Amino acid sequence: MAKKSGHFYIDESCIGCGACDHACPGKVDAIYAVKDDFLGRFAIVIDECIDCGFCIPLCPVDCIHDARTEDIPEGIAGYERIHELQSWAQPAG
Ligand code: SF4
Ligand code: SF4
Repeated sequence: MAKKSGHFYIDESCIGCGACDHACPGKVDAIYAVKDDFLGRFAIVIDECIDCGFCIPLCPVDCIHDARTEDIPEGIAGYERIHELQSWAQPAG
């Protein structure tokens, strides 16, 4: 698995305000509205996130996380853990 991936994820306490969606750089556009989510929540396409961090300060409920600031290892184990932490969301489709 040589694919590059970001370290940011959104937890299930997102309130769907959409502020982060506007922060994500246009060319990257790694934030998406979770399909058919009854709360209108957002999630991050982890493989497309470039770790810029622009989204974090805009979130009113602090539900966007940088895995590098948490006790999550680098490498495949960390990659899988980040996906697991955002597993409440549907995959981007
Ligand atoms: S860290 Fe940057 S690229 Fe990643 S989701 Fe947030 S705004 Fe988008
Ligand atoms: S800024 Fe936070 S609460 Fe608002 S949509 Fe993004 S992750 Fe959810």
